[in-house]
Amino acid sequence: MGPQRAEILQKELGIFTFDDLLHHYPFRHVDKTRVTPIGAIAPGEEYIQVAGILSSFELIGERRGRRLTAQVRDKTGVLELVWFQSISLIQKVIQPGQPYLVYGKVSFFMGKPQMVHPEMEAWDPEKLKGKDYLEPVYPSTEKLKAKNLGGRQIGKLTAALIVHLTERDLPENLPLKMRENLRLMPRFEAFRNIHFPQTTARFEAAVRRLKFEEIFFAQLRMNLLRWERHRFSKGVVFEKVGELFNRFYKDCLPFELTNAQKRVLKEIRIDTGRGKQMNRLLQGDVGSGKTIVALLNMLLAVDNGYQAVLMAPTEILARQHFQGIRELLEPLPVEVAILTGTTKGKERRALLERLVAGGIQILIGTHAVIEDPVRFQNLGLVIIDEQHRFGVAQRARLWDKAPIPPHVLVMTATPIPRTLAMTAYGDLDYSVIDELPPGRKPIQTVHRYENDRSLVMDFLKAEIALGRQVYVIFPLIEESEKLDYENLMQGYEAIKTYFPEPQYWISMVHGKMPAHQKDENMRRFVTHDTQIMVSTTVIEVGVNVPNASVMLIESSEKFGLSQLHQLRGRVGRGAEKSYCILLTGKKLGNEARERMKIMTATSNGFVIAEKDLELRGPGEIEGTRQSGALSFKLVDIVNDRAMVEAAKQQCEQLLKEDPDLSLPENGVLKEFLRSQKGKTAWSKIS
Ligand code: ADP
Ligand code: MG
Repeated sequence: MGPQRAEILQKELGIFTFDDLLHHYPFRHVDKTRVTPIGAIAPGEEYIQVAGILSSFELIGERRGRRLTAQVRDKTGVLELVWFQSISLIQKVIQPGQPYLVYGKVSFFMGKPQMVHPEMEAWDPEKLKGKDYLEPVYPSTEKLKAKNLGGRQIGKLTAALIVHLTERDLPENLPLKMRENLRLMPRFEAFRNIHFPQTTARFEAAVRRLKFEEIFFAQLRMNLLRWERHRFSKGVVFEKVGELFNRFYKDCLPFELTNAQKRVLKEIRIDTGRGKQMNRLLQGDVGSGKTIVALLNMLLAVDNGYQAVLMAPTEILARQHFQGIRELLEPLPVEVAILTGTTKGKERRALLERLVAGGIQILIGTHAVIEDPVRFQNLGLVIIDEQHRFGVAQRARLWDKAPIPPHVLVMTATPIPRTLAMTAYGDLDYSVIDELPPGRKPIQTVHRYENDRSLVMDFLKAEIALGRQVYVIFPLIEESEKLDYENLMQGYEAIKTYFPEPQYWISMVHGKMPAHQKDENMRRFVTHDTQIMVSTTVIEVGVNVPNASVMLIESSEKFGLSQLHQLRGRVGRGAEKSYCILLTGKKLGNEARERMKIMTATSNGFVIAEKDLELRGPGEIEGTRQSGALSFKLVDIVNDRAMVEAAKQQCEQLLKEDPDLSLPENGVLKEFLRSQKGKTAWSKIS
């Protein structure tokens, strides 16, 4: 291939090497033996192949409407063929009166089947008896097609490549025992058959084999990282449970910990006391009480002479954590400080100095805490709240902040479905708080249509009359900040007409608002100066107002499931009965209707996460997009769940028996990993 075509292949499809070309899989195969009788063509069939004798050409229409037509006829009927382009070329190479195989997409025009720009091939019935009759068609792009590199031409390149390959070029990379157990096709054969299958069954076996390989090695890499960390990493040692932890536990803890919280704390204590770096994912549904676990963990660090950081995704949340934690720690001699983007000038310089001198033991903040000028005296623990807002790269920057890498606890309130978690975060250890604090009353969730608005407003009034507070949330549409803002303002005005001053007072918070104004509005709601909080999703994470009993979500159809679930988690925190009202327009798409149904049916975050994955696919699950860990070529994490599970089991079994991959039969794994080094962008995800 010349340099020009090579370059465009690189640019358009990322194909640089033979290996890349082999991994550029066909998206379908044409079964060259399958010939549909023309009389049997039914509407709804897409790509088909017919065989028959070609009639003579006819040129019809003028100028732009000019087109070439012909018919192909078999014993059962006639199919109209149409060309709009390359008319003279077609007339030159295609011969009327001869038998042709005609392949393409059928459409119906005036009740008759026709094919526009069909693929034509001289028809020799003998040839169909050959073996390679499933012809691959590859994804391509318009630019490539213009350079004569359409789906079929790519197939020719691949065919030319495969002819030259032997088993030595594509050595087996799975141990024999595993392959036999799972009845997986050998690797070389799999590559041949995914491109040029001899039969459909062999094609399917090839896909299965290569899918398994894809998911298995993704997991193996992650798990190896985890094992390596367990065995070889250095970590600061939190050896004792000290004075602060004990005093807090005895005197300051406002409630008894749930069993799940105790279990997780124990897991963390073991993990941070071994001299290895902790890298742990803590999942817990919204309201399950992750903050207190984080705080106790930070006290453990401080007791052992280390500094701790708690990182939140938004300024509001950071401030709320700061205030809450400072109050809880009031009776104890612990220095707590906050650092966000709005900490500026003298204040900021003073804070940074105290930090590096060890005068601050617990630092709470936004991503500002990982910026370069921020230095610690001896950072021992980093806790990341609502992790899905933090990119992988941001996490990695923390490593430079201490000579021995600090322990890391990643907390997420958007439960990640199991299949995703073990694939995307397989390098992290995993804790889960699967129990809500006692005394929570379930939140009653209902779906109401726009034309019930005044009834809904009456309900809000009744709740406010009982001394409760309510949230009214408007969606962010994101394409246009201006539009969002206008939406919110309109909504705010509408709410105001139902709830006039001075009988009612309303707080409003949105993303464009200066921090001090946000804080003021939040504060007034928290202190019950206002009864209504109108907001965009900025309050989605974190805020805690136990007296709030109603969450009204406007245009609910515009929210994803996990967002709705997060929002709902803002109520049901006090002793009173709480409500979540999903308001939508009358016209709902199927998927939106499904979301409303799920929300009213369950309040289990893990169930909702699974449904979310099914409805939207993994690409949309927050936090997985940028990780790159889920960009598979063949595996579909939703539909191939059984295979993901199987790969996980194999992986665990393997590492239990042979953590170094030093047994001779596992040499192929090691060899393959070595050959792939540097090819994955996420080889060091945490
Ligand atoms: P999340 O896991 O969503 O971050 P929080 O840590 O904000 O949840 O906790 C939610 C609420 O539950 C807070 O008001 C917190 O004080 C309270 N809480 C946490 N643990 C317990 C417990 N064991 N018993 C009673 N209330 C608890
Ligand atoms: Mg939280």
